[in-house]
Amino acid sequence: MSKSSHDRKSKIEYWQEIPWKRAEKVLFSLQRRIYQASQRSDVKAIRRLQKLLLRSFFAKAIAVRRVTQDNQGKKTAGIDGIKSLTPKQRLELVYSLNPLTGKAKSVRRVWIPKPGKDEKRPLGIPTMEDRARQCLVKLALEPEWEARFEPNSYGFRPGRSCHDAIEAIFNALRCKTAYVLDADIAKCFDRINHKVLLEKLNTFPAMRRQIKTWLKSEIKDGKELFPSKEGTPQGGVISPLLANIALHGLETMIENWIMTKKIKDLSGTTLSKSNKKKSISIIRYADDFIIIHKDLDIIREATENTKAWLSQLGLELKPEKTRVCHTLKMHDKEKPGFNFLGFNIRQYKTGKHHANKTPKGDRKLYTLHIKPSKESYLRHYRDISQIIERYISAKQRNLINKLNPIIRGWSNYYKYSVCSKIFQKIDSLIFWKLKKWADKRHPKKNWKYKKPKYWKTIGGDNWVFSDGKYRLHKHKKNYDESQTKTRKKGNKRQGEKFIKVKNTYSPYNGDTVYWSSRLGKHPDMPTSKAKLLKWQKGKCPHCGLNFKHEDVMEIDHITPRKAGGGSSYKNLQLLHRHCHDEKTREDLKLIAEYQNRKELEKQHNKSIKWFNDLFSQEKWKWINDTPVLISACDKSHVSEEPYEVKVSRTVLKTSGSGDRFA
Ligand SMILES: [Zn+2]
Repeated sequence: MSKSSHDRKSKIEYWQEIPWKRAEKVLFSLQRRIYQASQRSDVKAIRRLQKLLLRSFFAKAIAVRRVTQDNQGKKTAGIDGIKSLTPKQRLELVYSLNPLTGKAKSVRRVWIPKPGKDEKRPLGIPTMEDRARQCLVKLALEPEWEARFEPNSYGFRPGRSCHDAIEAIFNALRCKTAYVLDADIAKCFDRINHKVLLEKLNTFPAMRRQIKTWLKSEIKDGKELFPSKEGTPQGGVISPLLANIALHGLETMIENWIMTKKIKDLSGTTLSKSNKKKSISIIRYADDFIIIHKDLDIIREATENTKAWLSQLGLELKPEKTRVCHTLKMHDKEKPGFNFLGFNIRQYKTGKHHANKTPKGDRKLYTLHIKPSKESYLRHYRDISQIIERYISAKQRNLINKLNPIIRGWSNYYKYSVCSKIFQKIDSLIFWKLKKWADKRHPKKNWKYKKPKYWKTIGGDNWVFSDGKYRLHKHKKNYDESQTKTRKKGNKRQGEKFIKVKNTYSPYNGDTVYWSSRLGKHPDMPTSKAKLLKWQKGKCPHCGLNFKHEDVMEIDHITPRKAGGGSSYKNLQLLHRHCHDEKTREDLKLIAEYQNRKELEKQHNKSIKWFNDLFSQEKWKWINDTPVLISACDKSHVSEEPYEVKVSRTVLKTSGSGDRFA
């Protein structure tokens, strides 16, 4: 591999020349081998393969492409002020990229507002070069750790999302009421003990040195890890992985501990070992986690154990955000239920006539509701109303186009939960806000003027905020679309069901069929993208590779709109963001050609029109089965229109010669 990458060095002179398909294949096969070596705990092989990957030209090229072309935060400059690189600079970076120098440039501090608060949180933005180096190191480390990570850790891992964590909670609480430890780790990333983390990392010396340097430069700027549903934090590319490594082992510790306990079920029989393990659930998303068990004593003891375990890492639970509650009833002045990742999870009592049965046949007098948390929908509504206020004098279509992606994103995130009523409520709040907006715009006009101006009747709905061309999306509609017949009995979770990731499955296991089928069903995936993905069989038509979870996808017009392409599904395709970049460059040529052609066509049409006009004006006469222009005899026309002369002369000639021979 290293030899072939050396050969490549002398060949590739342009960024566009890099054979991406081959590069992806080479990288993935290396990662898969690291994953497999890690599964059989072959430390020697892991390190050998990781070093190979870090030296590989292809892996370096992909790392550079990820940070320069794919990453959402690609336009934020580091301390060197570099925001974007030209293709030439990118290639130079690939050649000069040396991940393990043991050095790091300091990071630029950026303050971004915390959601729902006036506080701001700092982000450390590394330089472009450091980002690429971190990305490369992550490519090498991630498969090793993916093979080891615990099944119920869901944050910042390939192929896993918030919805998998919520589904795990749903499975745990579907058939039982329980006590819950709802915990939050205080300033997780700031306080992790570096020594313990590096020991846990257990890697070769050069790598260890490099990561130590990065940890230091990050800590200096107070980088805080924050589980955001917007995606990975913009700071260090590698920091979420390091946080996951630090917190790795919590689940195993709790499981090992519960095996030593004596637990009896309702009938008084002692539980077997495997049932004991099943009786407790620990579900973690980055630094946010919950522990579920039906006995309060077990939860209390588990809390103490967790605290002790975390203290080894220099961490502690945040007292104001950590609580013990029950899922159904009041406990110790705590309201039933808890919030996790923007969802509220609690159980409600049901009457006997609505009682359902558990799979074991026991009757249960409660039902589980998972719905958007109050904080989440209040914040969402506040964001929307702020935008409406800001757009008081803007065009209606600009306001619609600003709000639609926000509404679509939010309602997609919650569409698998019990959201119907909340969605309806938000829609009506938005209506009143928009009415106020219209009143302010036309204070002297009455409602008869404003209603038809801003609201239209579309498809039986009289109150669609629309300017005729663009329409405001409704939360409720998004929910209705996701409704199918798979209504779950007993537990109120209507609509389509989200399917949780399999136990310890990782994309590095190479089961592409499983992973690509999961991709299309992801709730964050808009319907249009999911449809295209299905038609394309999970492949990107530009590079021919299967889409993966970390890939950024964009919708492309196959024939660009500026070159006469339409917006129907037939003319759309889903591409990688980096493939889209390339396609757009090719499109520019196409558009230029199209416009050229259109210009020619225009001229051609003009001459055809002239020709047709001419002929329609003229009178025809049949002479010996040949059409002959009457005006052909008119000499005055001949001098004006040379084209006609040619036509009429030949006609006359043939008719003449025909006469002679006849
Ligand atoms: Zn592609």
